[in-house]
Amino acid sequence: MKELKILYLYPDILELYGDFGNIQVLRYRLEQRGFHAIIEPYSIGDTPPDFKNYDLVFAGGGADQEQSILAQDLIQYKTSIKEAIHDGVFFLLICGAYQLFGKYYKDVEGNMIPGLEIFDYYTEAFPDRKKRCIGNIVIESKLNNKKTKIIGFENHGGQTYHVTTPLGTVLFGNGNKFDDTQEGFFMDNVIATYLHGPLLVKNPELTDYIIKYCLDRKYNEDITLQPLDDTFENKCREQLLLKFSN
Ligand code: GLN
Repeated sequence: MKELKILYLYPDILELYGDFGNIQVLRYRLEQRGFHAIIEPYSIGDTPPDFKNYDLVFAGGGADQEQSILAQDLIQYKTSIKEAIHDGVFFLLICGAYQLFGKYYKDVEGNMIPGLEIFDYYTEAFPDRKKRCIGNIVIESKLNNKKTKIIGFENHGGQTYHVTTPLGTVLFGNGNKFDDTQEGFFMDNVIATYLHGPLLVKNPELTDYIIKYCLDRKYNEDITLQPLDDTFENKCREQLLLKFSN
């Protein structure tokens, strides 16, 4: 039986607005097609993971305080993470995790939280706690050269600058910064985004894109994923898109 090995980083610390739903929907869409999903959590104090041994690494969002707690722990894996990204392991990073893969995150108190510095972007929050990008968001992205709308929910004080390869253009909501035209970061096997929602629950096409990428890479094949019945998911998407376009 074909399988995917997923590393779930800091599940006890990084989990906002249903981020865990991403793991659940990955498992669901794999198992519905007869694939096995092995999901291994890692958090502070656990045996260090060998990032290259996984097909997919996932990390969710967190408040400033949580980010400062885990940043030092994460940084010890910088080399191993870099190698895994270079090898093609897929990384899906939401909000707080997105920020921590950049140069730094300057939080609302002005504290500098060091990033992994794997990518060039950096994030700074306004000193005013109330200045946050909050609400539903829709972006247009291209997956395998096909345009697709990605729906989510954003809630971040951090404003991310210097993203050269965004995930998509903003149709509704804020994006990397207040009133931005761009959202997230997308480079080959890395998707980093502010979209909670949970992201993958609202976006089956994106989920399947990630699943196919990971299976193709692992088994060196061009796998055709068996279609699933997404009637309810698509109805829900239609309603949300209708609501947000008014
Ligand atoms: N603490 C970060 C910010 O406010 C990330 C928040 C999040 O993960 N939702 O920007």
